[in-house]
Amino acid sequence: MPELPEVETIRRDLLPVLRGHAFTRVWVSPDALRLVQAVPAGRQAPPVADFARLLPGKRIEDISRRGKFLVFHLSDGLYLVVHLRMTGALLHRLAGAPPDRYVRAVLSLDDDSELRFSDLRKFGALWLVPDTSPVLGRLGPEPLESGMTPSLLREVTARRRAPIKSLLLDQRALAGLGNIYADEALFAAGLHPQRPASSLSDSEVERLHGAIRRVLTAALADRGASFSDYVDASGREGRHQFRVQVFRRTGQPCYVCGREIARVKVAGRSSHFCPRCQPLEPGATRNDKEAAS
Ligand SMILES: [Zn+2]
Repeated sequence: MPELPEVETIRRDLLPVLRGHAFTRVWVSPDALRLVQAVPAGRQAPPVADFARLLPGKRIEDISRRGKFLVFHLSDGLYLVVHLRMTGALLHRLAGAPPDRYVRAVLSLDDDSELRFSDLRKFGALWLVPDTSPVLGRLGPEPLESGMTPSLLREVTARRRAPIKSLLLDQRALAGLGNIYADEALFAAGLHPQRPASSLSDSEVERLHGAIRRVLTAALADRGASFSDYVDASGREGRHQFRVQVFRRTGQPCYVCGREIARVKVAGRSSHFCPRCQPLEPGATRNDKEAAS
């Protein structure tokens, strides 16, 4: 699933080539029933017709990112919000370029290019809204912004007894991390994924804060990680999958200490960690210890 570095890579690629251009035509596959989403969610009438009628003529003024959401700022005060979810990709192609697989929508532009929304699993979503807040909901702070200080992270962890891994995945606590970078950040910080968030000491929170930023920055420099479906706006894979320390390395030796990387389920998600570099220290619950053994 694309996380902050992957979505940010797409944003940085698209902004310089799309800024100032207008949408001209919209095609949404009739089998992509949940692609165009209404706000509030669950509205009865599918908004595809509104979407296809309102988007043409709108000019792209800026593209920003919030967590894993991509936000196109359009003329007339509208926003096109995109979430790639599991297998979505936003491909920028010349009109007439060879077809891509699993294309659910084509948004044509006035420079004879088009954005193709490709999505094997069909969990991705598009919104066209005058206000992004009902779509974005209550997202936590952006981990790479300057306001994201160790003391802010301390505020986030102190109130929560959930495992630190669950907290890192919770978009309302911190925006943009998913399974890959949560595991990598916890390894870089030397923290067991099942440690209760509130048990972290000040120095551990400081370590985690630095680790999150280092891991995301390195992944951005590698243009993201392509473990399964992720490709950038040109259809190219990222490189960070070759540089991960623990993610999906179960049974392989830790690059630091040689111990086999282990895997444990936390909040229903596989968590990869080194049992020696990331000890389960006192403060963890008994259930956590049993689950880890
Ligand atoms: Zn190790």
